[in-house]
Amino acid sequence: MERNGAVLIDIDGVLTVSWEPLPGAVEAMRRLRAADVPLALVTNTTSRTRARIAERLADHGFPVGPDDILTAPAVTAAHLREHHPEARCLLINTGDVRGDLPGVTLVEEEDTEGAVPDVVVLGGAGGAFTYAALNRAFRLVQQGAALVAMHRNLYWRTADGLDLDTGAFLLGLERAARTEAVITGKPSGAFFAAALTHLGATPGGTLMVGDDIDTDVLAAQRHGITGALVRTGKYRPETLAAAAGTPDHVLDSFADVPGLVERLGR
Ligand SMILES: [Mg+2]
Repeated sequence: MERNGAVLIDIDGVLTVSWEPLPGAVEAMRRLRAADVPLALVTNTTSRTRARIAERLADHGFPVGPDDILTAPAVTAAHLREHHPEARCLLINTGDVRGDLPGVTLVEEEDTEGAVPDVVVLGGAGGAFTYAALNRAFRLVQQGAALVAMHRNLYWRTADGLDLDTGAFLLGLERAARTEAVITGKPSGAFFAAALTHLGATPGGTLMVGDDIDTDVLAAQRHGITGALVRTGKYRPETLAAAAGTPDHVLDSFADVPGLVERLGR
């Protein structure tokens, strides 16, 4: 990695858990800022907009703003504008991310002429993933609607344990409807490409830090980015042992990242 190479940083499980900072994370972020390291926070979070994420992190002392954050909904909007212009999209998501979906037409039902949604968009699992909502998605996809998902994460870490995420539902939906969703968030190549473009960085000069070995670390490494796994958030030793690849670096926590960036820059 070149001196002052760029750093892509996952948020949940790396900087915070349930939006509370992990020990040493704020201080480490300040050190990266002081060293002028180009950085972007890259997250599959589907519960808040970039503006609200930035506000929450800044409240805890992280020196970041909305422009430092790239979310799966923001990249999904870019995908929909490019590949499904003018489409009527049915969004199933837990949380309000409409502010990150400019130029996307969201609909709930058939219009007065009986036109049904053209694209089913799955965001994050939670209360919105009811049987009725998922069954409607199934029927629309059977009728020819495109299926786009912001990610296929299987679970995430909350303050009181692991919670089942979109990927678990998506697998059943894909199997039942005999189709495969287009994934727009991590680990898709489109997401990492958008992040590198955002920073004007090259894959070889960039480090990705995450707590999900597949979605963050190995996915980044497949795109030529150096991968660092942190032992916080959803990290579990057995997941690392069973993984299909090996991280370039394994760190105790985000607090070790400034030191690694310095060593890689030498
Ligand atoms: Mg994470």
